[in-house]
Amino acid sequence: MVVLSLTAELLDAALEERARHERALDREVCRRWDGKTFLIATLDDRLDGVHASTCNSPNKCGYCARMAALENLKMLELDADRGPGPEILLVLTTPTVTLEMSEFYGPLQQVMRALRLRWAVRYCSLLEYTTGKAPRSGGRRRPHLNVLLKGVAPRDAGPVRGIVHRVWCAQTGAVPEATYAAPIRDVGGLSKYVAAHFQKTSQRPPEGFKGQRFNPSKGQWRYWNGDLTAAEMREQAKRAIARDNLRYRGALAGLRGPELEAWIDAEEQRRDQLDWSIYRLKRDRWGEERWQWLGGKGLRRGDYD
Ligand SMILES: [Zn+2]
Repeated sequence: MVVLSLTAELLDAALEERARHERALDREVCRRWDGKTFLIATLDDRLDGVHASTCNSPNKCGYCARMAALENLKMLELDADRGPGPEILLVLTTPTVTLEMSEFYGPLQQVMRALRLRWAVRYCSLLEYTTGKAPRSGGRRRPHLNVLLKGVAPRDAGPVRGIVHRVWCAQTGAVPEATYAAPIRDVGGLSKYVAAHFQKTSQRPPEGFKGQRFNPSKGQWRYWNGDLTAAEMREQAKRAIARDNLRYRGALAGLRGPELEAWIDAEEQRRDQLDWSIYRLKRDRWGEERWQWLGGKGLRRGDYD
């Protein structure tokens, strides 16, 4: 069925979305959006929403870094709720100024091998960079790893620290005083710690960094409980964040208690039925705005051009 009104409706929605995007600050939108690529949601061939796409490059964009950090954090929270959660936190610093991940992932693997001689350790590491603002840093930004450990009891923090000092410091040249291993007292507090650190723009990797900052152990040592893959865990985190956002919106609209929950469920179900497509809005040689289909199945040709 061809929906004739769609062209004008779609264009209006896209232009409105672009204006909204231009009004917003870096903290609210992706600054690296090209202003032309839109995600379009439809439900039964009716337009449901037009959304600016994102660059999806956490290493290059403050907004996308924050969104990725929020997802990572949610993954850790959901996983800890399911249990068992991490019980020891390591902070591993390096004296080296580098963008090369292999320089610390090699030593990290050595630490894990040494720990696994005694415990069935699973880990999730979060990479951040020092700000370079400390008095003796000389303005240089050094990488360090926050590592959450599962499979070691808090009472073993002492022996863990000993192994870290021996292996990590020998491999990286770090001084023992600059590494840290301590029991995690509560996952709520941990989440706040991780959130506070991981979302700080000042601790993002320097320009040119290309690696993954968030690395849960895989394979036989898979970090995630319930035998979930990282992709499955991320999907759950995305849904949970979407529900949190709906809860916030519903509460703003004055919904409370069971009424709010019912509205969230209904809205979630409705969203599950949306079809998504990606379009680019471009001007043809006569100066007319045209839609170019890039992917997805929301709209058929003829409905939009
Ligand atoms: Zn972005």
